[in-house]
Amino acid sequence: MRILVTGGAGFIGSHLCERLIDEGREVLCLDNFFTGRRVNIFHLLDNPRFELIRHDVTEPILLEVDQIYNLACPASPVHYQYNPVKTVKTNVMGAINMLGLAKRVRARILQASTSEVYGDPLVHPQTEDYWGHVNPIGIRSCYDEGKRIAETLMTDYHRQNKVDIRIARIFNTYGPRMLEDDGRVVSNFIVQALRGEPLTLYGEGEQTRSFCYVDDLIEGLMRLMNTDDLHAPINLGNPGEFTIKQLAEEVIKICGSKSGLTHLPLPADDPRQRKPDISKAQTLLKWNPTIPLHEGLERTVADFKERVKTT
Ligand code: NAD
Ligand code: UDP
Repeated sequence: MRILVTGGAGFIGSHLCERLIDEGREVLCLDNFFTGRRVNIFHLLDNPRFELIRHDVTEPILLEVDQIYNLACPASPVHYQYNPVKTVKTNVMGAINMLGLAKRVRARILQASTSEVYGDPLVHPQTEDYWGHVNPIGIRSCYDEGKRIAETLMTDYHRQNKVDIRIARIFNTYGPRMLEDDGRVVSNFIVQALRGEPLTLYGEGEQTRSFCYVDDLIEGLMRLMNTDDLHAPINLGNPGEFTIKQLAEEVIKICGSKSGLTHLPLPADDPRQRKPDISKAQTLLKWNPTIPLHEGLERTVADFKERVKTT
């Protein structure tokens, strides 16, 4: 079984490559290194079953593979807003190129979609049949709408060309190897707490998110990929819901930090609440997240302590 992981040098991608290699698979890791790092997959480079391809998914490529995990796309608002047109191209042309490849070589393809397809949701918790509440012209739209059209493409390639698709709607995922300057909340807070700087709460910090530890997510992605006849989107996330202020307090406690809190303006279109309904994943994949926030944060903080300069 030869498996292509696009975005394989990124945060989630590198954990997925590692797990697939551990399970004896042959892995092709494809990345343009926009937010991915060689160091994330450095320990895999010597493995004869691992191959690294520097390539941009907006360009076509022909590879002989059995499965494709299409993860290529910056996930942090800071990074996906840096070049929004490129973010749209990555989502749309990337999906077309990877679906074309899947069609040609008859590979099964899994798309890393996102809870952002629900936008600022009016249904809580979010179920897969909710169509979402998304601004098509806001600063998050390049990502949200890009991911929505990728879902459309996946579904139309399935209906029209019988491509064997899987769609994972991933909710906020965190863990070791997140970039220190990633801009997402967990990495920002840990770096700030370790440096003794105030933690930056955007707005009042009353908005909520549900945080899934990366190992749990990888298990869910692999179960989804390897379950037959599941062509509709599936939520993958941890239903534990926390305000951003609660997260800040937890991070300060775990880091043993003396940092305080500071408030910055809330970015436009920032979703007010988010929590996955994971009944479908529980029933169809027999999947449940197993690592509570406190434990996952402890593991993540341990990783950041080794990397972050505190003086
Ligand atoms: P990440 O930024 O660490 O990883 C993305 C990877 O894709 C990087 O290695 C980057 O260099 C690569 N990439 C970006 N554009 C590319 C292109 N045009 N061609 C080839 N490679 C490209 O982010 P992540 O958190 O690991 O996210 C991985 C996937 O999961 C993304 O598709 C993201 O949208 C999705 N996702 C992540 C989360 C989360 O909380 N981490 C939540 C929902 C969805
Ligand atoms: N956030 C924050 N401080 C930060 C970074 C983010 O308060 O330093 C907030 C952000 O406004 C959002 C939540 O934390 O409400 C999650 O942000 P992130 O960028 O991690 O993910 P997303 O908004 O895409 O879920």
